[in-house]
Amino acid sequence: MPLKLSSAVTELPRVGPAKAKYLTKLGITHARDFLYTFPRRYNDFSKITPVNELKVGEQMTVQGVVKSAKSNQGWRGRRRLLRVYVEIEDDTGVLNVTWFNLRFLMQQLGTGRNIAVAGTVEQDTRSKQLRMRSPVIEFLDGTGEQTHTGRITPVYPETYGVTSRFLRYQVKQALPLLQRLPEYIPADIRERHELVGIHEAITTMHFPDDTDALEVARRRVRFDELFFLQLAALVRRAQREQRSARPLPVLNLTQFKKQLDFTLTAAQLEVIDEIATDIGKPVPMNRLLQGDVGSGKSVVALFAARTAMADGHKVLYLAPTEILARQQAKLFAKTLGEDSVALLIGALPSGKKRALKERLRTSDPLCVVGTHAVLQEDVQVANLALAIVDEQHRFGVEQRQALQEASDDDMVPHLLSMTATPIPRTLNLTVYGDLDVSVLDELPPGRMPVTTSVVPPGERDDAVVHILEELHAGRQGFVIAPLVEESERLEAKSATEAYGEMRKLFPDIAIGLLHGRMSSEEKAGVINNFSAGALQLLVSTSVVEVGVNVPNATVMIIEGAERFGLAQLHQFRGRIGRGEHQSYCYLFPTSDEAVTAKRLQVLATTTDGFVIAEEDLKLRGPGEVYGAAQSGFGDLQVASLLDYPTIKIARQEAVKILKNDPQLDEYPILKAKVEQKNLLTHFE
Ligand code: ADP
Ligand code: MG
Repeated sequence: MPLKLSSAVTELPRVGPAKAKYLTKLGITHARDFLYTFPRRYNDFSKITPVNELKVGEQMTVQGVVKSAKSNQGWRGRRRLLRVYVEIEDDTGVLNVTWFNLRFLMQQLGTGRNIAVAGTVEQDTRSKQLRMRSPVIEFLDGTGEQTHTGRITPVYPETYGVTSRFLRYQVKQALPLLQRLPEYIPADIRERHELVGIHEAITTMHFPDDTDALEVARRRVRFDELFFLQLAALVRRAQREQRSARPLPVLNLTQFKKQLDFTLTAAQLEVIDEIATDIGKPVPMNRLLQGDVGSGKSVVALFAARTAMADGHKVLYLAPTEILARQQAKLFAKTLGEDSVALLIGALPSGKKRALKERLRTSDPLCVVGTHAVLQEDVQVANLALAIVDEQHRFGVEQRQALQEASDDDMVPHLLSMTATPIPRTLNLTVYGDLDVSVLDELPPGRMPVTTSVVPPGERDDAVVHILEELHAGRQGFVIAPLVEESERLEAKSATEAYGEMRKLFPDIAIGLLHGRMSSEEKAGVINNFSAGALQLLVSTSVVEVGVNVPNATVMIIEGAERFGLAQLHQFRGRIGRGEHQSYCYLFPTSDEAVTAKRLQVLATTTDGFVIAEEDLKLRGPGEVYGAAQSGFGDLQVASLLDYPTIKIARQEAVKILKNDPQLDEYPILKAKVEQKNLLTHFE
């Protein structure tokens, strides 16, 4: 059977069932996927160099004939080691090459055979002779066509059982199939932005003739990736705008303000206004509220909830942790009334759960605050007008969708997502192209920025003395225990150890312990005691990251600080500096070397969440920061979410195309891509 772009990998030569399984890990299931799996990087083996011109330390290709080949069986420690020694001769000299444990090689290395090897040139310390160890090898068949040597060679993302060498071979096999791939970016767009055709782009991405050609190809692929992202976001937005939501009458703001024990900031008022406008429409809102930790997002959410309740509807509020759910339920109950707020968490007794679910089916107004248990319970909510997701980056696209689907009728609830991981302003378009974004860019008055220091292991005593002073002055504090990734049990152990140490350091201080292995009642008890001031110091794992709001807490120690990500450290730090007193955050790295870790330095020099988000993005990349799954930009192989110029162009072109053809009827491939999220799915 002739190969097609849509042929399963198992139809290709050299791909058996085992190989196919490994390939799946790279997302390669069909022939076309080889073409769209782009190299991570390249080795420039294009310099074919005579042996007498080789330079130590450089990557070069040598072509010649096998002069001699021998092998010996040795040992390295307890392991058997087969060494293959080969002399390669060209017109100018002889190069020694060694390979290890390549059993098949000896049989193929007959004297006189034409081969090319590519690798880094080294000098043998004793003999001073030039040599290569484990270079890439290619047998020259006289066609002049080379895949692995004598050119800029692609290096692919590898996984167990799949080497770059194998991928190069398969890509080469698949390249002729490109002829059947129709161009899918309209000609006028390509002309406007000087983008090469897709055949040239893909061929060059894998086997570039030179670096200039490669850059031209990358330009095209970058555009494609960002264009699809924009197109998909705009289509999602258009689809949402076709659905109906309950329009909510504007709430009396004066009355709302009276119920608060502080004055709303200008930023809060502005965002409240944006939300009021959105939810007043019969179209579902999809708004992301960005605000640094402590910027006062809760009261904005409360306003939205109050608006929905005042009109007699239901509200679902999704929190990432039980601690936060409890705290938020308490806060909301203060304004909305005890009877109008219910907590739905996993730990709720099943009888109560059932009763609550019954209540959700009635038309009475109610605000349910819960964790993801809300979703697991498969609730059917009558009269659902609003869904709120706090710390939305903790939830995936599906979870947010499920929340909106909880409505028992055709009306979609308005959706307010909140995040304390601000997205650099320039990225709003890309990251959440189908959302509207509001920003709380002002902290409540009287907040002093937290003073942050990175404390080398030898200087901890000074920090400890200072913390003791603060505690004796009536303040409270946190100790964050080192991160243990492997298991909750080990993390709990690490926190328990830190707790023991603190009790020795501060024998006359009331200290609490908080970790993920405690029952939710135990956790709630500790948090309550800490909030009430009965505990002065709280030793905790990362469970404390979000939600604990104790304005009297002014000091924090983060043990093993370098193990945490930047955004997470910033979140921890957000637990202090919430009141009128100056607060102090001490980062305790585990070693002197870690003191200079970039993210600790960033944290020590700024408290601006946007700056931190931008640095985090640079350090870790968008997939890590925002979660690849949640926004579908796991698809980006070549493009960067920081490439604002290309994003802007892609956005403009996507808007233009959809304006003329909202259903993309004239662009079946673009349509398929947008709908199925898998490029080329419907290709032959
Ligand atoms: P976050 O944005 O991190 O969720 P919160 O909503 O928990 O922040 O607010 C942090 C603290 O600031 C809370 O104690 C809250 O009562 C207080 N707060 C919020 N808005 C104001 C304001 N306008 N003036 C004074 N305090 C405020
Ligand atoms: Mg919050």
